[in-house]
Amino acid sequence: MFKKILIANRGEIACRVIRTARRMGIGTVAVYSDADAEALHVRQADEAVHIGPAPAAESYLRIDGILAACRATRAEAVHPGYGFLSENAQFAAALEKAGIVFIGPDARAISSMGDKIAAKKLAAAAGVSTVPGYLDAIADAEQARRIARDIGYPVMIKAAAGGGGKGMRIARNDAEIRDGFRAAGNEARASFADDRVFIEKYIEEPRHIEIQLMGDAHGKVVHLFERECSIQRRHQKVIEEAPSPFLDAKTRAAMGAQAVALAAAARYRSAGTAEFIVDRERNFYFLEMNTRLQVEHPVTEMVTGLDLVELMIRIAAGEKLPFAQKDLRLQGSAIEARVYAEDPTRNFLPSVGRLVRYIPPAGEGIRIDSGVEEGAEISLYYDPMIAKLVAYGDNRDAAIARLGAALDGFYIRGPSHNLGFLAAVIANPRFRAGRLSTGFIAEEFPEGYSGKTIDAAAEADAIAVAAAAQFIAAEHAARIGGQISSRSRPPPEDWIICVGEPGDGAQRHAARVTRAGESITVEIAGKPRTIATTWQPWQPLLRVVLDGTQAVFQIARDGIGMNLSRGGASLGVMILPPRTAELLLLMAAKPPPDLSRFLLSPMPGLLVSLAVTEGQQVKAGEELAVVEAMKMENLLRAERDGEVLKIHARPGTSLAVDQVILEFA
Ligand code: ADP
Ligand code: ADP
Ligand code: MG
Repeated sequence: MFKKILIANRGEIACRVIRTARRMGIGTVAVYSDADAEALHVRQADEAVHIGPAPAAESYLRIDGILAACRATRAEAVHPGYGFLSENAQFAAALEKAGIVFIGPDARAISSMGDKIAAKKLAAAAGVSTVPGYLDAIADAEQARRIARDIGYPVMIKAAAGGGGKGMRIARNDAEIRDGFRAAGNEARASFADDRVFIEKYIEEPRHIEIQLMGDAHGKVVHLFERECSIQRRHQKVIEEAPSPFLDAKTRAAMGAQAVALAAAARYRSAGTAEFIVDRERNFYFLEMNTRLQVEHPVTEMVTGLDLVELMIRIAAGEKLPFAQKDLRLQGSAIEARVYAEDPTRNFLPSVGRLVRYIPPAGEGIRIDSGVEEGAEISLYYDPMIAKLVAYGDNRDAAIARLGAALDGFYIRGPSHNLGFLAAVIANPRFRAGRLSTGFIAEEFPEGYSGKTIDAAAEADAIAVAAAAQFIAAEHAARIGGQISSRSRPPPEDWIICVGEPGDGAQRHAARVTRAGESITVEIAGKPRTIATTWQPWQPLLRVVLDGTQAVFQIARDGIGMNLSRGGASLGVMILPPRTAELLLLMAAKPPPDLSRFLLSPMPGLLVSLAVTEGQQVKAGEELAVVEAMKMENLLRAERDGEVLKIHARPGTSLAVDQVILEFA
């Protein structure tokens, strides 16, 4: 076995490979660009080598730089992860020439599969069902039109060198084929320096179902069943699962056998994936083969109990596959959601910035593959994926339920993210029923996504939970202020809960809140709800048992109100004593004061220290102050970049909740 391997990648996949290597007792070498000097993968590896400036073309994509890093550290083998050089045949060949093992297939297999035309020809020759189409590069728009008419509209124009959803166009008539031919060719030239395109039948409402393959250097190939990746946006996967809710045992076996036949024909070694599309009648057609570890490989690991990275490393070291096809079993169900730094409300525009808060969920059946920690910077140089969140369950419903709870508990502040969108997708009844197709997102979210509107039941839950939270905060304040002892029973509170803008527009609910032991009762309009929680007022996640059912809310102060969100929907409420609510109604015309310029104490406590001075520039995520409450130190950080204008409280001051600590310019 190797003593030391180098990981020619960054982010979550570099961390993922390091984890397995470490478990196997293999030393690890990370490589990094200027932008990644502080990155998690660099800190996790045993050694790290700087390979160049931030742009990938000058660092992670430089074959000479990676080779030099291998020589300098005497790494015996290289794992390429996915993306970057993972499907670059020249890279595999250069390593081989230098006597370094590439943890992947050989250069010949990579280049034959990297060309979609060649791969389809090879597949057809191996008896694999391929998408009907014309199996050569198209010379001009006129030939494209003739071929499209032969195949029959609609058709798909695709770049032979394509990947990552680029260089692809659907054409439904002669006009579209002319435009599409030009557009796909241009995109292919720009992205892959290769403008060859080909045409195949466009399969309507297909599902994307792929077969995971694993072959050793001794001629044995098995498949590790399928993953369904139909939830895509612009031909890019968003949610993936195993097994597919659509396949029956017979189709699964037939697809697996064809994929294995293709890999055997290519004398394929290491992990690879045969991608298929499947139509409504369960006819399946080979699309392409990816000659690398796939982003979504964790779902396969969860339903097979195997470690794909370990298998890749063992196979690269010459070991035989330790099992036969008949030894493999599918157990349970796993779903992965890709958490991206992007803004779903602004057409999924990529977002960048510092992760001011980052609290990934944890729990039974939950796996997080991520390459970041709180304080890390999501930069514009690389893929904007923050993490992969994977949930396992005994069956699909159980996996979905766990994924939903984990999405609710995933707390990210700083860059925009798609957690709410992901929650809305998996809450969709069509998703739950397993009626998927690659058009799912476009059909179910035709206007894009603008934040889910909260339904009546969810709103009633959020209101009751908000009232309980306010009650707990009031108890803390009373205890710290010495008005009640920790054992005395707090009095019931009568409050008005305002939902929406204060004033005429707001809905108002009169609530009475009481505590009996561990449980808080919120009674609104004669209907009592019981809430049990161990939440403390400064915690961002509010886990409750609401009338016997577990739920997680994210809670944030918003001026004098608070904001609760769950399942991709959020609600702003103000909870006020009746007198204050009356006054507020009278003042309603006035806009609420802008408190965002002030750093307010989130809880009653003691100001222990200040990390900044007047006139100082601060960056989002930087420490501002420490407030001690209930014997715990709470670090307050800047929510965005700015300048400190004035300090209003000195260390040693005891603070009331919402007391101003400092003011920004
Ligand atoms: P998978 O099939 O494993 O889900 P994707 O198509 O999502 O793979 O690609 C995996 C990663 O590889 C992407 O996140 C992207 O960063 C990178 N990638 C794939 N193809 C390309 C390409 N042609 N150019 C640049 N990056 C690519
Ligand atoms: P890439 O190399 O970019 O991953 P693929 O050939 O795997 O390209 O196609 C990506 C996605 O585009 C598929 O998952 C599927 O959703 C869609 N697609 C590709 N070819 C077809 C086709 N012939 N008919 C319908 N959809 C297709
Ligand atoms: Mg693909």
